[in-house]
Amino acid sequence: MATQDRSEQHPSRLVSVAVPVALDQAFTYSVPAELPIPAPGTRVVVPFGARALIGVVRPGVAELPEKGALRELLELLDPPEQPALSADLVALCEWISDYYLAPLGETYRLALPGSAMGVDARRAQLTEAGATALGSDPDLHAHDRRLLARLYDEGATPTAKWLVVASLTKQTSGPPIPAPLMRLSALAARGLVEVDTGEAERRRARTEPHYRRTDRLRSGSADEPAIAQVVGRSKQRRALLDYLDLQPPASWTSVSELRGPFPRVRQLIDPLVDAGLVVASERLRELDPFASPAVPSTAPPTLTADQHAALERLLAALNAGHFEASLLHGITGSGKTEIYLQLIAEARERGGGAIVLVPEIALTPQLAERFRSRFGDAVAVLHSGLTPQQRLDVQGHIRAGQRPIVIGARSAVFAPVPNLRVIVVDEEHDASFKQDEGVRYNARDVALVRGRKLDAVVVLGSATPSLESWHGTREQRLSLLSLRTRPTPRPLPEVEIVNLKEHLPDRDTLLSAKLRNRLLETAAAGEQAIVFLNRRGYTTALSCTTCGSFQQCPDCSAPAMTYHLKRNRLMCHLCGHIEGAPERCRSCGGTELEHGAAGTERVEVAIAASLPGVRIARLDRDTSRGKALTELLDRFRNREADVLIGTQMLSKGHDFPGVTLVGVLRADQGLALPDFRATERVFQLLTQVAGRAGRGDRPGRVVLQTWAPDHPAIQYAHTHDFEGFAKWELAARAKLGNPPLGYVALLRISGEDRSQVNARARELGRSVGALATRVAQASGATRVEVLGPIDSPIERINRRLRMQILLRTSRRDALRWVLRHLRHELGARGRGRIGTVARVDVDPYTLM
Ligand code: ADP
Ligand code: ZN
Repeated sequence: MATQDRSEQHPSRLVSVAVPVALDQAFTYSVPAELPIPAPGTRVVVPFGARALIGVVRPGVAELPEKGALRELLELLDPPEQPALSADLVALCEWISDYYLAPLGETYRLALPGSAMGVDARRAQLTEAGATALGSDPDLHAHDRRLLARLYDEGATPTAKWLVVASLTKQTSGPPIPAPLMRLSALAARGLVEVDTGEAERRRARTEPHYRRTDRLRSGSADEPAIAQVVGRSKQRRALLDYLDLQPPASWTSVSELRGPFPRVRQLIDPLVDAGLVVASERLRELDPFASPAVPSTAPPTLTADQHAALERLLAALNAGHFEASLLHGITGSGKTEIYLQLIAEARERGGGAIVLVPEIALTPQLAERFRSRFGDAVAVLHSGLTPQQRLDVQGHIRAGQRPIVIGARSAVFAPVPNLRVIVVDEEHDASFKQDEGVRYNARDVALVRGRKLDAVVVLGSATPSLESWHGTREQRLSLLSLRTRPTPRPLPEVEIVNLKEHLPDRDTLLSAKLRNRLLETAAAGEQAIVFLNRRGYTTALSCTTCGSFQQCPDCSAPAMTYHLKRNRLMCHLCGHIEGAPERCRSCGGTELEHGAAGTERVEVAIAASLPGVRIARLDRDTSRGKALTELLDRFRNREADVLIGTQMLSKGHDFPGVTLVGVLRADQGLALPDFRATERVFQLLTQVAGRAGRGDRPGRVVLQTWAPDHPAIQYAHTHDFEGFAKWELAARAKLGNPPLGYVALLRISGEDRSQVNARARELGRSVGALATRVAQASGATRVEVLGPIDSPIERINRRLRMQILLRTSRRDALRWVLRHLRHELGARGRGRIGTVARVDVDPYTLM
């Protein structure tokens, strides 16, 4: 009876599989008679070209391929009752692929990272029992015997008898062995074969390679040409050397840590080790810094009236078990996190789980600590420093329900939490929730979709909500929960605006007299200050005084390369190109090279010289990565420096109780960027930055230096008036039909060859134009504007030219109709130098 039911549901024994390749389509396979029909979400091994890949079964009816032979599934990797992906995650992946027009394989990989999907790399060997059976077991099935014989014959050498499992699917001689991988699993279950996934071995190892930079060949010195020789043309390798250069002296960095930023670290590092620039050593594995639960537990405080009202609303939805999406708006320190904690505690009481998304874990260790001090071991922290193996382990714990509360950045929205009841997106306005390469999804929006499918409670929290979410409360898509007071009697910091046109800043420090005095006062009082400048490096450019040309990155267009003094070199922040600073202009050979605008490095040097006795530290992506970053933040928190100079990296979530003064050197910076979100970003940044002042028991003060004191973004930040800002900015967006009062999608076309990119962009422009015309004819009122094709504001990155077309309309369904009809024209076309790629970014965050 059961089998009959099944065959009725799947009359054709065909399944649609998301295969981990960049092609924008699903592939259909037939299920051989030996295998049960796999449920959606099951991982399967499929033949793809000459390879065997691990893909995922999709829901719905599979279509017969129009051409080519129908191939068979090779194996099911998950037990029938426990697919790797739960039904809700399968549905979520399908939604993402459809909404963001992203290739299915890439989308499913978001939910199954690492080796869970990809090339089937398992290996097998005969066990002793297998060898005996092969020689002497007369009952061995003929097919099994041939399979064992192949392992015996082909198992490489007498010492290493491992054979890649996937190779068994290729016939060498004689008639084919049916379902060889299935058979192999059965033989493994009988102990005749051992199958190694590679995981067991990695898990067992207690040591791993660690690396350390030696004194040989100094970066940014006369050694640069010799370094270039060793590094070759690989920018990744140069960046890796740079990363090691930045670690604290004499400290070892593990291969796991390096694998985060440099997935191919092993290949990259060998030449550096061979040349003696780096030494390698096998050392004990470090424990995951967020895994040890040595946090004292804390009890929840009594809520304020605002907190209480907000929590009641959320609990009502939680208890009713229906979908509820809210925007929790409250200034920094107003007690938002406390609400998340209590809401999640209630969900836990009812056996439910939760996901908390945060912008960047490494920058907000305190948040994870607070959750652990309330919930102990129930918390899993997914952060970028996890090795692929650690990540798989944690995912396993989460899936098994051992850690029902998950904290993580963007990709944690896919965490396989059973009975997920609550999703929190903290700092929901943050741009890091939007992935801007690969699958261009926004984790905040995906969280809302996942919550709706599960009837869960979704809370978006921010002191400076995105205008999308704010507008959502106006349209009743989100309910608005406001925290108007701080639970601790701490006034908002006083914000002072310094008009730079009247109070000229010092040329070197960029400090006005007022800010300089305030810094001195603060340090004298034994308190701390943070100074922001959103520009890394020493100066933004080196230009030639003879011919005026900038020393440009050879592979990118604007901006020119940033000069870094300490290591005397130029660096491109777009593609990572690094070179020793030239002594002569590359265009004319002139020897007088002049510095452009100052960056954090130069300001650090100048302020240190101008404020004697004040201890200065600097934080930006150049000084601080990996361990060096946490160390620097700890040092500042322990008051080993008085003033911390940093880029916007510093605006996120840090809690420094000693800080009473925050200075912004150029508050108007970023206002002029060609991007409709530029003003919103500046307002958010200033407000967030101001929130860093006076977090301890002393009131704070904020000094905003600006050339545009009257700009609304600055005025509203001055008065901490988010609602005023939102009203003004929404009116401006409405005029042009920009989001959230309209919908946009950005088509981006890139490639190395100018005429190819141009031709492809024009062709797409024509297609979009024709589709837009059809929309207008069909509906009369609805228009889809087509802006472009134009060169992107950043015309060239890493040798690839970039063009773009912006689509804008007042109706989302119209935009989706156009994009759906355009889908088959997207993707890669041609290869190598004449190849082009066209992709679409739906609800884009960057238009540069
Ligand atoms: P936010 O997340 O909005 O920045 P937090 O939840 O971190 O705010 O609260 C700021 C500080 O106030 C924290 O130290 C927190 O422990 C404390 N706090 C929050 N709610 C209360 C309350 N009801 N009574 C006392 N202290 C509170
Ligand atoms: Zn570059």
